This record gives sequence, C-alpha cells and structure tokens, in this order.
Amino acid sequence: RYEERLRTDLDRSLELAVSDPLTGLRNRRFVQHHLEAALRAGDVAVMMIDVDRFKAINDGHGHAGGDKVLQEVAERLRSQLRAADVVARFGGEEFLVVLADAPPDEAVAIAERLRAVLERTPIPTGQGEVSVTVSIGLAITPTGVSASEAIAAADVALYRAKSLGRNRVEFAPSRAAQSKD
Ligand code: GH3
Ligand code: MG
Ligand code: MG
Repeated sequence: RYEERLRTDLDRSLELAVSDPLTGLRNRRFVQHHLEAALRAGDVAVMMIDVDRFKAINDGHGHAGGDKVLQEVAERLRSQLRAADVVARFGGEEFLVVLADAPPDEAVAIAERLRAVLERTPIPTGQGEVSVTVSIGLAITPTGVSASEAIAAADVALYRAKSLGRNRVEFAPSRAAQSKD
C-alpha cells in the first residue's frame, strides 16, 4: 500500500508539473516541448488565441470574475478539440493550441469553430454575464521549423486579427507564399 501511495503521489506531482492551476489545461512548458516533438514528426497547425479586451472584463467583473471567464474559455476550447490535440494556457489570457494531423483546411475550420463557440454564449462571472470573444492567429508550420518560430508566426497572425478588429481568425502565410511577394 505504501508503494501504491508513492505511485499516486508521483502521478499527481507529474500532472501538476505540466498543468495550469487555474484552468487545468496544459501549461506553457508542456506545450513548448510537445510542439518541438510534433515539429520533428511533420507539419503542425498552431493557434495562438487571445481573449479580446480582457482587461475591461476584469475591470467590470472583478479579478475573480475574470478568472471564471478564463476557466470557461478553457473548458470551451477543450470541448471542441480531440484528445490528441494539445490546448495550453500560454500566459495570462492567451492560449496555445497544437492540432494533431490537421490539414490546413481543417485547421482553419477548427479555428473558426473555436472562435464561434466563444462568441455564441455569454459567460456568467458571478457579477452578471459577459460577452467574450477571442482573436486567433493560425500558423501551419512545416517540419524543421523551431517551436519558437512556429509560435512567432502564430503571434504575427494574432496581431493582425487584433488590428483588423478582433473576434476573428487570421492565417499566417507559409514562407513559400511570403517569398512570392
Ligand atoms: P486585447 O484585445 O488587445 O487583447 O486587450 P486585452 O485587454 O485583452 O489585453 P491586455 O494585455 O491589455 O490585458 C490583459 C489582461 O489580462 C491584463 C491582466 O491584468 C489580465 N490577466 C492576466 N492574467 C490574469 C489572470 O490569471 N486572471 C485575471 N483575472 N486576469 C488576468
Ligand atoms: Mg494578451
Ligand atoms: Mg487580450
């Protein structure tokens, strides 16, 4: 029974080491490792997802209300993805998704579905409901690119989604497409 306890304790601390305490999603460290491994194996679709105007949600609904929003955003993202996809909390109100085996068309459809599932239904905060939208930068990255380059590409697309008005998905052009213009 002692060994069983050790085993359970070890499983629990391993789980804690790769998880985000607020949302239960994978943490940044885990997703970075996962992305590196995925990029060695083949093309990868990466999404950087950022909650729109989140500061205003905190201001209007309190920090605890903001935390509830982050938990619900996490749950909705998770509910739309498959077990082999990884969804992580990357930073404050930013989430990183690494899709398993998603061709570009499918990745775009999934990103659009994630965006829509947030927009569709307001989130209760304990101080009323709040409409929450997200902006998404999507990058399809070929094998051989580093995890940080893949994340940077998704980030550039995210910035474009923000500057084009938020609540939208923007796609990072591939390097081949970029060098054409
Ligand atoms: P934008 O649409 O440009 O993304 O605007 P924004 O307000 O979402 O972006 P900004 O980066 O200005 O604000 C992010 C806010 O997220 C600021 C910070 O206080 C809040 N935040 C970060 N982590 C947490 C957290 O764990 N809980 C809560 N409640 N708020 C957090
Ligand atoms: Mg942000
Ligand atoms: Mg934001």
